[in-house]
Amino acid sequence: MNNVAPKLTSKEYEANFAELKPALTDVAALAEANRCLYCYDSPCMTACPTHIDISTFIKKISTGNLRGSAKTILSSNWVALTCAKACPVDELCEGACVYHAKGEKPIQIGKLQRHVMDWYVEKRMPQLFTPAEMNGKTVGIIGAGPAGLACAAELTLFGFEVTIYEASKLAGGLDTHGIAPYKMQQQDSLNEVKMIKRLGVKIKTGVRVGKDISFEKLEKTHDAVFIGVGLSMPADLKISGEEMIGVVNALDFVENVTKRKWKSVDVGRRVAVIGAGNTAIDAATEAKRLGAEEVFMVYRRGREQMSAYDFEFELAKRDGITFYFHAQPKKIVGKKKVQALECLETRIVNGKLKTIPRSEFKIPVDMVIKAVGQNIDETFLASIPKLKIKDGMVVVNTKSYQTSNPKYFAGGDCINGGKEVVNAAYDGKRAAYGIHNFIFKKK
Ligand SMILES: Cc1cc2nc3c(=O)[nH]c(=O)nc-3n(C[C@H](O)[C@H](O)[C@H](O)COP(=O)(O)OP(=O)(O)OC[C@H]3O[C@@H](n4cnc5c(N)ncnc54)[C@H](O)[C@@H]3O)c2cc1C
Repeated sequence: MNNVAPKLTSKEYEANFAELKPALTDVAALAEANRCLYCYDSPCMTACPTHIDISTFIKKISTGNLRGSAKTILSSNWVALTCAKACPVDELCEGACVYHAKGEKPIQIGKLQRHVMDWYVEKRMPQLFTPAEMNGKTVGIIGAGPAGLACAAELTLFGFEVTIYEASKLAGGLDTHGIAPYKMQQQDSLNEVKMIKRLGVKIKTGVRVGKDISFEKLEKTHDAVFIGVGLSMPADLKISGEEMIGVVNALDFVENVTKRKWKSVDVGRRVAVIGAGNTAIDAATEAKRLGAEEVFMVYRRGREQMSAYDFEFELAKRDGITFYFHAQPKKIVGKKKVQALECLETRIVNGKLKTIPRSEFKIPVDMVIKAVGQNIDETFLASIPKLKIKDGMVVVNTKSYQTSNPKYFAGGDCINGGKEVVNAAYDGKRAAYGIHNFIFKKK
């Protein structure tokens, strides 16, 4: 990189990467729980993709039954602490709260769920579920992200012997490696992994399926296989200069930040982040919080088309990020090292995005972070016979989560193209039912 931003002090890093949303005190949690109206139709429960019985877990908080409350939550969602902290609650449960119709503040469902899950972790995660007796069948799971973990946990309740094969050294998928520290700590995800291991799930980390173990071996060892590999291939910009020193992909960048070894993460003084989704916003705010002097988000469309949520956009603005809307990157300029990002202005003509001829302009930068999405690793999945992939997603039966190869099931980002943790958690759980029904020939 041409220019590395000066390192901050440990104290400054700690402050910059502290969680933004504080926990509720016991008194505040009780007061908030007592505001819940226990609606007869609980729209919040419908809006939650895992359908947690929200009114019931909140009612249990109000009666001091935190253990019962944790059980209610976990029986629907195995990664409930992550979801409490990282779910876009404004769009989901809290967005559906009936208090909105009364013009009042919705119940702080995310914070209440966090209150319960923090208590559960503090109490060293007592066993709330008893796995069924072993049924003599075994399932192999590829990937220990939220989809794989949820599938594994649920399968143990049916009595399956479950082994997860995980390529990384640490389990947890993007919950461990991707979600911004201002939302949750890596340890939160690792605690969830620990809880799931305690149910009897074996997790073999540092094992990449397709390289360290073959699909044939997996098929011979297990009665069914669940694919929960997420989207591991960062998309390229397909412009010249991508190979230069100072160009990084957002997933690698945020993963280094999640490890909390901030001093070892180099960031440019002037950084361009290309993209406008959640990952792009995380990369931009993290670059700023690591000490970059100026961070620019470059997006070829307008604010209205950004896929990042409003609260993320607001956070980026508060962090002083500069937005270049309607700017299409044309090339990365430099001599081995990045010196500038050259863009063309864009406009919409008859509903189509067009670049404006001769509208080139340069943004002088010494680092470019590519955050234009992730793709499924199709080459790796191509080794599974008869596995159907369409539009970059593994095709599954929407009820059973079975793929076109009957022995394989799939869930999470690899079937939905990249959504939220809560969707992956739901898929994994539902796939466990699909696997159980398939193996025991139930309809
Ligand atoms: C930067 C970033 C920030 C995000 N922030 C949020 C957020 O704040 N809130 C939210 O709800 N969602 C967020 N998401 C989305 C969320 O993280 C994903 O939707 C979710 O993690 C998907 O879960 P998954 O289990 O399908 O895949 P992943 O979490 O990606 O897990 C897949 C696992 O499979 C492993 N794997 C892959 N290939 C192999 C192989 N061949 N052999 C063995 N193991 C393999 C990987 O190492 C990984 O551990 C974010 C995503 C990103 C990229």
